[in-house]
Order: sequence, then C-alpha cells, then structure tokens
Amino acid sequence: MKRYILIILILLSPLTVFLQADNLTSPLISIVPRPTQIVPGSGNFTFSAKTAFAVENQEQAVIARNFIDLFTRAAGITPALNVGSKEGQIRFVTDSSFKPEAYLLEITPQQILIKASDTKGFFYALQSIRQLLPAAIESEQPVQNIAWSVPAMTVQDEPRFGFRGLLLDPVRCFIPKENVLRIIDCMAMLKINKLHFHLTDDNGWRIEIKKYPRLTEVGAWRVDRTDVPFHSRRNPERGELTPIGGFYTQEEIREIVAYAADRQIEVIPEIDVPAHSNAALAAYPQFACPVVKDFIGVLPGLGGRNSEIIYCAGNDSVFTFLQDVFDEILELFPSRYIHVGGDEARKTNWEKCPLCQARIRKEGLKLKNRMYLSLLWQVLIVCMPILHRYAGYLTRIFTDSVFTQSFYTRCFQRDMVARR
Ligand SMILES: [Zn+2]
Repeated sequence: MKRYILIILILLSPLTVFLQADNLTSPLISIVPRPTQIVPGSGNFTFSAKTAFAVENQEQAVIARNFIDLFTRAAGITPALNVGSKEGQIRFVTDSSFKPEAYLLEITPQQILIKASDTKGFFYALQSIRQLLPAAIESEQPVQNIAWSVPAMTVQDEPRFGFRGLLLDPVRCFIPKENVLRIIDCMAMLKINKLHFHLTDDNGWRIEIKKYPRLTEVGAWRVDRTDVPFHSRRNPERGELTPIGGFYTQEEIREIVAYAADRQIEVIPEIDVPAHSNAALAAYPQFACPVVKDFIGVLPGLGGRNSEIIYCAGNDSVFTFLQDVFDEILELFPSRYIHVGGDEARKTNWEKCPLCQARIRKEGLKLKNRMYLSLLWQVLIVCMPILHRYAGYLTRIFTDSVFTQSFYTRCFQRDMVARR
C-alpha cells in the first residue's frame, strides 16, 4: 500500500509545484464573497500615517472611523479623517446611479476612490479593502515591519441576495457578549447583513425581561451535565444546582444591536412560542397546561417527554405574559422582523387540557396538523392584542414551519403594500 501512495505522491508532485509557483508569480486576489468583477491594475497603494480619508458626511465618517481603528490597533498608525472635504487619498463619492449596497472601488498606487449610493455600499468597499490588506490588520496589538499595502485593481460589486444571514444560538451553549461582538465583526467582513439571534428555548432564556425577572434568574441556568453528550443528558430533578448558563442584560442587548447597526447588520431576535419553552416554564410553571404534573426545569439536553411541555393555549394569563415579553422585545430590537419560532409544538398536553379544549371549542379552531401549527397562529392572532396594537409590527413577526411560509409570504406582501 505504501508503494502505491508513494507513486501517487510522485505523480502529483509536479502539479503541486506548478500550483505553488503559479500562486507565487501572480498575486491571488481574494475577496469573499467574490465581487461581480475584478480588474487587476499594476502596483500597490500603501497606507501610512500620512494617509487621509475624505468623506462627505457624518454617516460615512462613522464607518471610516471604524476602519481607521483597525490601523491604530494593528499598525500603530492613525490615518486622518476629513469630513466634508475632498482632501485625501481615499475618497468617498456618492453616486445615486448605484444600486443599494453596491459599490465601485478603484485602487491605484496614488489613491483609492470609492463610489456608492448608500452607506452600506461604502462600508462594503472598506470590507473588501480590509480583506486585501495583510492578515495582520486583524491583530489586537501593533505589528512591526509590515507593508500595509493593497494591490491596484478596480472592483465592481453588488449583492445577489438582499438577505444574507447567520443564525447564532447562544441558548444551547451561552455565548458571552464579547464573543457575540467579535462574531458580528467577522460577519461584517464577509458582508453578512442579518444576525438571527436565537434567544429562548428549552435549554435557556438568554434575555433580561424587566417585568419577569425569574426568566433569567431561573430560566437562564441549568444543571451541569457537561460530561454527557447533549442528546443523552438526563433531565433535571427538583432541587439540583443549576450552575450552567448566562444571559444578556437589556443594556448588553442594546450594545449588541447598536454595534451590529454600525456594521450594517440587523439583529433579528427569536423568541420561541408555544414550544421550546421549558426555560420560561421552569421560571413560571403556571403558564404550562394544568394537566402537567412533572417537574419543569431548564433542560440540559433534548428533554425527551419534557420537550412536549409547552405554553397552555387556554390560559389567558399566558397571552398577557407573552404580550408583555414582546412589548419589551419590540422596544429593544428595531428589526423589521421578529421570529416567534412555531416549530415542534406537540399537542400531547393541549389534547388533555380542559382549558385548551375550551379555547378550541370557544374560538371554533380547526385542528388539522399533528403539530397544531395552524392552531398556534389562530390562537396568537385571536388572543394577542399586541398583534393588533402593533398593527405596523404585524409584518415583523414570523414563525418557521410550512404553515408559516404562507403567512410569511402574506407578511411580505403586506410590506410591499405598506411601502407603496
Ligand atoms: Zn392548556
């Protein structure tokens, strides 16, 4: 066998040498995602302490300043920033003929010209430059003996997709705020513009809600089963210590949302209803169906039968609670959409619960799906005045699931109508 491997290696070696040589002779221009068009030029533009940015307004100044901070930190130099001036080697020029988020980047040894119609376009041009710079630009400490150069070229770029998202799940494993901010930085560099932030589930409630402090006092913490794989972790028992977890204060959430906005990223929160709610129900067990007799704790794993414990659809106080929670969520997140989950809502307890059955009879609700997805929405729309009170926000709330896709489509159409 060894002999065959040796023969294959010998056969491949000229190819390997060729690829390396090719990489060495022609500089590899690597911008991710790949721009619409790149035309290489000749020479390099080099950043130094004498470099100046010329931007047209304060909005552009914010993104230029963030970019300059990279040099201050990693290169120990701070290029100048001239606002409302044309004096500078790196010039921002608004051109309304560009599509949203699109940009033109012209790099010559003497100057860099950026054209775009909106702040996002200028921001993305800077991210392309960031990727073209030596990787040391990402260093937290000044790095010596580096030429802070980018190759001359002309880049034309526009997105193929308006919604470019990353789903972040700090529920199964808590992610401290500092790490979330770092992830947002990396998203920005890759021109990802939506952070889908999964904040509640069976395994933890990660956002402070002022009106219901137990959601984080109790719901953010779970038993330690870290020695066992997630899928085979035993459910918690009453009285066990719950040292594993964490949550974001509202102040931290505001910081995350603002930090993301500075980087052209919209944060879309996910608050799961009516299933994936064991963390909330561990804190407020009165919102589960009264037929549930098991101990409800924050689940350290999949949960087995306990994952079937969901909000009671017949108890009016559940909807008051949800309305209060969404009041605070809508206040914290200016995003166009709010995700309310909607998946894997098993009907086990709703079928046995007299309150749920009474609701179904009273409202004349239809039970078609095994997972009661349509019931979920019927109940939400009937029972959550928040959906009426925030008429403008109706378009901002969506769930996953097949049923929801049609709802989502309708939301989108409503949006189109609203914008016209
Ligand atoms: Zn019930």
